[in-house]
Amino acid sequence: MTDLPSTASSPQKKVHIETWGCQMNVADSEKMLSLLQGERYELTDSPESADLVVMNTCHIREKARHKVLSRLGVLNEIKQSKPGLKIAVTGCVAQADGKKLLELAPQIDVLLGPGKIDDLPRLLRESADTNRSMTSLGFDRHSEEKDGHEHAHGSNAASAPSITGKPEVSRYVNIIQGCNNFCTFCVVPFTRGREISRPLAEVLSEASDLVAKGAKEITLLGQNVNSYGLDLLNTDIVPDDGGPFVKLLVAVAAIPGLERLRFTTSNPHDFTMPLAGLFAAQPKLGRYIHLPVQAGNDRTLARMKRKVTVAEYLEKVQWLREQIPDVAISTDLIVGFPGETEEEFQGTLNLVEQCQFSFIFAFKYSPRKGTAAARFADQIDEKTMDERLARLNALQDRITTKLNQAEIGQVREVLFIYESAKEPGIFVGRTPHFRTVRVRSKINLIGKTSSVMISGANKVALVGDVLEQNLTIH
Ligand code: SF4
Repeated sequence: MTDLPSTASSPQKKVHIETWGCQMNVADSEKMLSLLQGERYELTDSPESADLVVMNTCHIREKARHKVLSRLGVLNEIKQSKPGLKIAVTGCVAQADGKKLLELAPQIDVLLGPGKIDDLPRLLRESADTNRSMTSLGFDRHSEEKDGHEHAHGSNAASAPSITGKPEVSRYVNIIQGCNNFCTFCVVPFTRGREISRPLAEVLSEASDLVAKGAKEITLLGQNVNSYGLDLLNTDIVPDDGGPFVKLLVAVAAIPGLERLRFTTSNPHDFTMPLAGLFAAQPKLGRYIHLPVQAGNDRTLARMKRKVTVAEYLEKVQWLREQIPDVAISTDLIVGFPGETEEEFQGTLNLVEQCQFSFIFAFKYSPRKGTAAARFADQIDEKTMDERLARLNALQDRITTKLNQAEIGQVREVLFIYESAKEPGIFVGRTPHFRTVRVRSKINLIGKTSSVMISGANKVALVGDVLEQNLTIH
């Protein structure tokens, strides 16, 4: 859980925003903050001093709901002593559980799905006027098209500006909501709906504004960014030229002052050769990509409905390595998918050895209500999953440590993002390969890109020394 830092302004009400889960939620929280600033709210770090607490929830694991309910219990105690406090629950748990959540936690004033963020100010006013809980769930593209107001008032998250006035170096921009893929383990199509892309001009405008306000790195976000714009073209096949997503990357990369452009998540099924080619042509894309494979066995991938085989995945990795020989690739992996045999799990270990990922996000399979795989009969027991996860993580730890240690003695261009809160004077940044670098400095490095000699490494991060002599404070 990440609390957004507070900003300085002079409004009349205070909001505390708690963000759980993925970068999409971080971006959504920033958009909600932007909307609330328009209603004269300012951020506070403390729920006790807030007039409104927003819990932006994540539903990726079953335990998420229990955590939300437990947190709501704590907030309810604050509300008992401060009856004017409003509680809004947003994000994927709100969408997935809907009004059932209100029955379990009647202290919620506003319940809002991730596709309805623009409704937050209106629902808060209605809740205050009626003293009742207000709900807005679901996804709006089709209803909006019916009444012809799609871009006039837009109820999807993508339509809200995300400018908060904070001079942050690294910012997120949503480019597409939802997913059309229905992988059998995944709840996203149920909680975030079908794909809805933002118009290119709107994305460009928001990214340009963020750069003008100090952003040096932009990460374009979507559940499947490679599908960007296909809904606007009424197709589900990425054109041979890489389609609208490649055009969008070219356009955003051209923004003057932007130093680095990243994107996530890129589904290997829709990953094209022109997109791989762009990595060589456009240095702002850096030398890193997250390409989630999920498993290293064709039968498992087919049962997951990933629409890609191990050989096809390896071919796409090869495309990238032909363009950028030292490209860093990370991935997502699920262990213990229903029916996964020991031999099939071994395929995942083999793939990790073969690809030499820079890092992985590895999870035990967790059945999500409403998904196809939750109904599969051959669920794997917890002990087997624990054991497989431990083996997978041990293998990846060895690879990550080896790759990081190979960085020692290299000079890397590091974009510094923040100063450590626990260790003042330690600045943290990232290399073009998306490796984290920690540097001690007496001057403020935030927002500066500097040449750093790497002098040490472990499986988590690199350490080094800035080479330039004449550093200026940005
Ligand atoms: S592509 Fe990603 S978001 Fe879409 S269903 Fe599959 S795992 Fe979920």
